[in-house]
Amino acid sequence: MKNIVIFGAPGSGKGTQSDLLVKKYGLRHISTGDVLRAEIKNGTQLGQTAKAYIDKGQLIPDALMIDILAATYDALCPCEGVIFDGFPRTIPQAEALKQMLAERGTEVSVMLELQVPDDMLITRLVERGKVSGRADDNEETIKARLQVYHNQTSPLAQWYEQEGKRVAVKGYGDIADINAELCKAIDNV
Ligand code: ADP
Repeated sequence: MKNIVIFGAPGSGKGTQSDLLVKKYGLRHISTGDVLRAEIKNGTQLGQTAKAYIDKGQLIPDALMIDILAATYDALCPCEGVIFDGFPRTIPQAEALKQMLAERGTEVSVMLELQVPDDMLITRLVERGKVSGRADDNEETIKARLQVYHNQTSPLAQWYEQEGKRVAVKGYGDIADINAELCKAIDNV
């Protein structure tokens, strides 16, 4: 069973690469951003709570996010393995994921980090905003999300490094080349 954390800033290509990896390895894909946007679309209580944070570019509080992740995971698994896309985003979330998987007799196999410079991320997200219709893909919120990434999420790189699970890959250039690097890292696990 392979459990993969795909990691990187907003706009780093996590979703694009996850789709390719899902096809190749037959994994389940958990995108916490997609889960939250589905709740918003369905007008649930949870969606209303989430929207207030997302629209400001802030993170949903850990306790709530960890419960959502566990419920999503248990609805999909036991299974061949999962790609976690957008989770964890904080150290408490990483610790909770480790514990949750251990309780289910499994663990994270590898953390794949997509490295992209900030100026490129901003350009990509502004472009995406023109077609995505996502309320958080506007320049002001994009900048807030990048700040949150650098303050709260990027310390996780070190955390996974210490766990011996981190593989960092250049996240720009040809999509197929990036994918090949990621596949190499997965096949080495
Ligand atoms: P991106 O990676 O492009 O910012 P996502 O779709 O992964 O987009 O996330 C969109 C928003 O959803 C985040 O800015 C945040 O508000 C919320 N979110 C998603 N995943 C998490 C998480 N693990 N913890 C807290 N908030 C989250």
